[in-house]
Amino acid sequence: MTRPSRKQLIDWDRRYLWHPFTQMQEWKQEEPLIIERGKGSYLIDTEGNKYFDGTSSIWVNLHGHRHPVLDRALKTQLDKIAHSTFLGLSNPPAIELARELIRIAPKGLSRVFYSDNGSTAVEIALKMAVQYWQQRRPEAGPKHSFLHLKLAYHGDTIGAVSVGNIDLFHSRFKPLLFPTMEAEPPYCYRCPLNLIYPSCRMACIDPIEQILKNHHRELAGFIIEPLMQAAAGMIMQPAGYLQRIRELCTKYDVLLIADEVATGFGRTGRMFACEHEGVTPDLMAISKGLTGGYMPLAVTLTTDEIYRGFLGTYDEFKTFFHGHSFTGNPLGCSVALANLQVFRQEKTLSRLSSKIKLLTRWLSPMAEMPNVGDIRQCGFMVGIELVTDKRTKEPFPLSAKVGHRVASIARTKGLILRPIGNVLVLLPPLSTSAEELKKMLEILKESVETLHIG
Ligand SMILES: *Cc1c(COP(=O)(O)O)cnc(C)c1O
Repeated sequence: MTRPSRKQLIDWDRRYLWHPFTQMQEWKQEEPLIIERGKGSYLIDTEGNKYFDGTSSIWVNLHGHRHPVLDRALKTQLDKIAHSTFLGLSNPPAIELARELIRIAPKGLSRVFYSDNGSTAVEIALKMAVQYWQQRRPEAGPKHSFLHLKLAYHGDTIGAVSVGNIDLFHSRFKPLLFPTMEAEPPYCYRCPLNLIYPSCRMACIDPIEQILKNHHRELAGFIIEPLMQAAAGMIMQPAGYLQRIRELCTKYDVLLIADEVATGFGRTGRMFACEHEGVTPDLMAISKGLTGGYMPLAVTLTTDEIYRGFLGTYDEFKTFFHGHSFTGNPLGCSVALANLQVFRQEKTLSRLSSKIKLLTRWLSPMAEMPNVGDIRQCGFMVGIELVTDKRTKEPFPLSAKVGHRVASIARTKGLILRPIGNVLVLLPPLSTSAEELKKMLEILKESVETLHIG
């Protein structure tokens, strides 16, 4: 078969494809970038042009592209079997990976349930929570509501959207969603209470306690992205926040569901964000970095307490009736095992800490730029909020697409970014070298500078 030309690929892309989160009418007017290969921190297009992968391929890649250990793990598994079902059967990589995950997960999480993307891992956590309360404490009455923060993002399937709150993405689907309870997030740059941290003493938690106090009898769980509400535009929780939420959930007997899909696997500088606060959630969803960005795989972790709520004889029908065609996929599990091996071999986390400090240092001059309102960084997750007026914090109208404009310029300079509205997001692979990081930041800065020239 002859290889289609670049022109042909562009033509077919425009003719047959529908891209996610993309206005296709505009997509057709722009020249699409077609990535054919990758190497380390770089993506390489069909013409051989190299670009920094400034989004880690939307937050999934950790050790760079074409990592030899990860590549080999997939090839080795492929010589055995690509997939066999997990319904009624098991497989070695899935078993080994479960054991490894329990070893590194926050203490107290002891069971692994597989699925294949972050949204489903969240759906599973929600369903487990509801069924748990029905079976474990039927006398407690129906406990099937959820509390979440405003601007939360937990995925795009209907259950995950129900506990999400990003109007632009979610409002159309309101008629399909189940009702939930919402609380203001600790968006310190635009504090809903007009207070300043730390003198505020996290007053935004008081209304959360009120909700828990008034509604704990109905609430199955509180779902939260620990430390960083990523898709909201990298909204960062102050130190101590998550721990307080954990205490309140325990006090009011509401399950804490940590969505670590974005924050897990070193992104925040620790293996899991919950570790920064010494918190163990009752349920935890992980996916993006789980396979080092190689394969779609996800896990919902839970405690022995919750797991045991599902035990009984078959005819008690306490089974968790949930599964997917690709649950426990051996290719995904093999490469996830290799991912953890690389963390150990390359001491990824300890080597990351000095690069996190460099990142902070190199970001700081950007705070002086006229259109930079706020810089939020947690480990290797960065959000830069652009504003028209620094003093009033006046946001750019979404229709101005400033994030997109900056990203387009960055691309011509060799850096791929995917902004969220007015927030520029930089999430490089954890393996990015100090030199590469410096170059990425130079491009980012130059691209933001064009805003007040043009
Ligand atoms: C990306 C993301 C999800 C959804 O994961 P998918 O694999 O895209 O379905 C859920 N929660 C958080 C916090 C995420 O960042």
